[in-house]
Amino acid sequence: MARSPQPINAFPVFMRVAGRVVVVVGEGDEALAKARLMAQTSAALRIVAAQPSPGLAAWAIEAGVEILRVAYEPSLIEGAALAFAASGDEAFDRRIADDARRLGVPVNAVDRPDCCDFFTPALVNRAPVVVAVGTEGAGPVLAQMIRARIDQMLSPALGPLASLAATIRESVERLLPKGAARRVFWADFFAGAPARAMEVGHADEARAAAAELLARRQAVAGHVALVGAGPGAEDLITLRAQRLLLQADVIVHDALVPEAVVALGRRDAERIAVGKRKGCHSKTQSEINELLVSLARDGRQVVRLKSGDPLVFGRAGEEMQALRDAGISFEIVPGVTAALAAAADFELPLTLRGVSSSLVFTTGHDLRGEALPDWARLAISGATVAVYMGRSVAADVAGRLVEAGLSPDTAVAVVENASLPHRRLLHGTLADLPSLAGRDDLRGPVMSIIGDAVAGADFRRSAPLAAGVGPMPVAARSPEGVGA
Ligand code: SAH
Repeated sequence: MARSPQPINAFPVFMRVAGRVVVVVGEGDEALAKARLMAQTSAALRIVAAQPSPGLAAWAIEAGVEILRVAYEPSLIEGAALAFAASGDEAFDRRIADDARRLGVPVNAVDRPDCCDFFTPALVNRAPVVVAVGTEGAGPVLAQMIRARIDQMLSPALGPLASLAATIRESVERLLPKGAARRVFWADFFAGAPARAMEVGHADEARAAAAELLARRQAVAGHVALVGAGPGAEDLITLRAQRLLLQADVIVHDALVPEAVVALGRRDAERIAVGKRKGCHSKTQSEINELLVSLARDGRQVVRLKSGDPLVFGRAGEEMQALRDAGISFEIVPGVTAALAAAADFELPLTLRGVSSSLVFTTGHDLRGEALPDWARLAISGATVAVYMGRSVAADVAGRLVEAGLSPDTAVAVVENASLPHRRLLHGTLADLPSLAGRDDLRGPVMSIIGDAVAGADFRRSAPLAAGVGPMPVAARSPEGVGA
């Protein structure tokens, strides 16, 4: 579900400590813990402890770290990259923290968050790859649990593999153009033969496999994926969609796809919003078709991100035709269509044994002519009808269905912003449906579901549809044109 994250109070950065002095002041367990942490780095560790505990002293001998057996004084932290106040004594730690601040040295006072300029994360160390987990002090145990899970996920060979990557990075950048070609190379490097060789400890083989991979480099052809983004919640997207988003050079998205979903793409991917919301068509369909073709011809990996499922009222037919005509490779990734998300929000069975055994996806925009479309006949014979873009034509839909013989008492469920935290659920009957067109309070996309199966939904969290403006006569036709 889309949640707006809280602001971060302690921003994670990776600080260069190689060769710089890092001071730990303290004699006991607190000092030992911080010294251990910093001993994983290439910093020059300075432990200040006039009378180190036996534990600290023994560790220092084993780790080859020298302890300065002198009384603390501020000059000992001057110029340090980082300082730790780890004496275990509150007043003393505060004094060290004050000194550090005065000297411009970032300080961490153990267990005294208010005195800390920085916090130490829980670390997964596969140097040069390091994962740092922080909770701003809210849950050290939680941080350790997360650390343990990530630790299991990452092979011990990751460190050497990443080091190898660093040594060949320059050649790769020289030989492969920026963009898809390089990304494909690195994906193969980190998941293919070099990774497998490193996994079993064969660093030379890994290097040879990387060289071979580089020699085999090929120009990468452009490709377009028409991807369903789902109804809006960023965790209702498929794993395949997520993977393609991470590989895309360009993301071409509709206005209905929320920022949180587009943001699943790489940060450096180009994003092109092509509008397509009622009243703000920023590009015509043929402009979009041409855009997709020209991006792919430039060798780009394109994700065309559409709300819901791309093949349901998504104009994918035209885009696929344009890509086929241009000889561009493409694929379709299905998504959760709005009707399914709305039904889920309502706990509404779209098919119900003995009541409804078919399901219609329609827009209602085909109701203007004299002839009754086939789907209306299906509704009368018991199908559940999901109406997309149906707000402005709500009166037409209701009027024609009643004219055709559907009872005005037939149940209707309406969901605005299905799947999103600010969704709204409304319920009523076909006789109430026309009121939808006049409801200015509904700003988001709206899905209406009509049929006897709707009666099986959970109405405890929904408001009456007619309550807003009162029911309009069913025969009244909406004056509005085509739109959502
Ligand atoms: N391809 C999309 C539909 C695009 S048409 C899909 O498969 O869902 C746009 C219409 O879809 C909107 O007018 C609205 O009727 C419906 N819709 C899309 N997202 C919705 C949502 N989160 N809640 C309710 N309706 C939605």
